[in-house]
Amino acid sequence: MMFLPEGTASPEASIRIPFDNTYASQLSSGVFFEPWQPAAAPAPQLLFFNEPLAINLGLQAPRGESVSTAEELAQIFSGNRLPDGAQPIAQAYAGHQFGHFSPQLGDGRALLVGELLDRQGKRRDLAFKGSGRTPFSRGGDGKAAVGPMLREVLVGECMHALGIPTTRALAVVATGEAVYREQALPGAVLTRIASSHIRVGTFEFFSARRMTAAIKQLFDYTVARHDPHLPDDADRPFAFFHAVCRRQASLLADWTAAGFIHGVMNTDNMVLSGETIDYGPCAFMEAYDPATKFSSIDQHGRYAFGNQPGIAQWNLARLAECLLPLLPNEDEGVQVLSDALEAFPAMYQQAWLMRAAAKLGMAHWAGEGADRGFAQVQAATEHLLKDWLTLLHAGHADYTLSWRYLCDAAQGREDRLRSLFSDTFDQSQLTAWLARWREQLTASGGVDAAGVADAMRRVNPWMIARNASVENALAAASAQGDLQPFKRLMQALQNPFEELDAFADLAAPAPREQAQCYKTFCGT
Ligand code: AMP
Ligand code: MG
Repeated sequence: MMFLPEGTASPEASIRIPFDNTYASQLSSGVFFEPWQPAAAPAPQLLFFNEPLAINLGLQAPRGESVSTAEELAQIFSGNRLPDGAQPIAQAYAGHQFGHFSPQLGDGRALLVGELLDRQGKRRDLAFKGSGRTPFSRGGDGKAAVGPMLREVLVGECMHALGIPTTRALAVVATGEAVYREQALPGAVLTRIASSHIRVGTFEFFSARRMTAAIKQLFDYTVARHDPHLPDDADRPFAFFHAVCRRQASLLADWTAAGFIHGVMNTDNMVLSGETIDYGPCAFMEAYDPATKFSSIDQHGRYAFGNQPGIAQWNLARLAECLLPLLPNEDEGVQVLSDALEAFPAMYQQAWLMRAAAKLGMAHWAGEGADRGFAQVQAATEHLLKDWLTLLHAGHADYTLSWRYLCDAAQGREDRLRSLFSDTFDQSQLTAWLARWREQLTASGGVDAAGVADAMRRVNPWMIARNASVENALAAASAQGDLQPFKRLMQALQNPFEELDAFADLAAPAPREQAQCYKTFCGT
């Protein structure tokens, strides 16, 4: 992360973006998207620029010889001065929101500016969020506020540092314009980098209109982009569906491992690339409880922590329905897709158990090249995991720190772990569980206590983007224009697996009464 000094724009220093746009050039305009321009920003000011990401995208030389000024970046990433080759479009999509179908959503406040190949040759979308009204805006103003856009930076970069697939924030520019929600707020444009923005809802848009030729075109495009290695035969739709299911199972297992609650898992917020997208009312769970939800609009807990894998499967069922017209034989095809869908819970459970085994200190069982199969990992960890989570639930223990301090316990130090449980919790249950866990560690064999603890510390983070610190950073940035708490939190989130005294306040859970009242709002 780098915040550049103010200065005068010089043409040589301008960021050049080697756009190579396939969505706009290979798919039909007026069907898949509408060409559109971003709104002008009256007084753009750069709030955040992700320099490591810019370097990875090949937008900036590694040693920064041609560093752009903050003013230039603000002009570019507000949409005021689009680089050559940009071809902004608003993408069409539909979606099931809280279970109810909306046939037309689409980029109502976003634009796909273009695509580029990063340094690894991977194709990435560069998109704006908050760049003004589009043909898909319905009643909305097409704008975004500083707070929610910086939240997307904080939580997205936290996920990235945790090793979880995610879209990433490249820049946030304050527009100098007020946006009106319940009150006037400073407006902003976020630049988001994604493997693609193809959602379950993109397929639903064409499926709802029975546009079979368009579904086929979108399917071919998506496979070429995300699964080009799949054999090009009649089974391709099944193989593709299976690949999407596998990516979602893996992603959902990552979320469970990190205690991440997305908050609004509508089908338009699930991308087929398998990245986490749309950081609206998201939050990390503190005290462990599968029923945890923070979103003010999720009244019935549809998107609560423990429901997420089931919801992912529900969303995948909506995708399967869209693929039916592509099948050579519909009856047989329905059966094959249903079988794949029914396999999803087991696929997720396997992905989660492998992560949990590593979190429990049995990485040498679960890791790459492990000599034991999944069945053995399962036998060793499933009951241990279930009982561990039951203890955390009963003791209202902080999820992140319980895992982290379990690493100490591998070396016999239990005080920090024990201190996380509520006063009324019966510690003898934890004592009994720790004894079983140690037996299992010994049985899994091979590594010394320090080695086990070290391996555990590599998969059990100390630092996450905690709700209170995120709110504090956003409030200071939005209300007072003070970016210091935001920058400090960003810095703390860079190395989540290291314990640093300087950031101890940011790693601490909120008092329970405060955490229970925490609410998040949709990022509009
Ligand atoms: P989200 O809940 O952010 O995933 O958005 C759901 C849908 O509402 C998408 O089609 C968005 O483009 C649209 N939307 C959200 N906020 C706005 C806004 N301020 N103006 C126009 N459309 C919006
Ligand atoms: Mg969305």
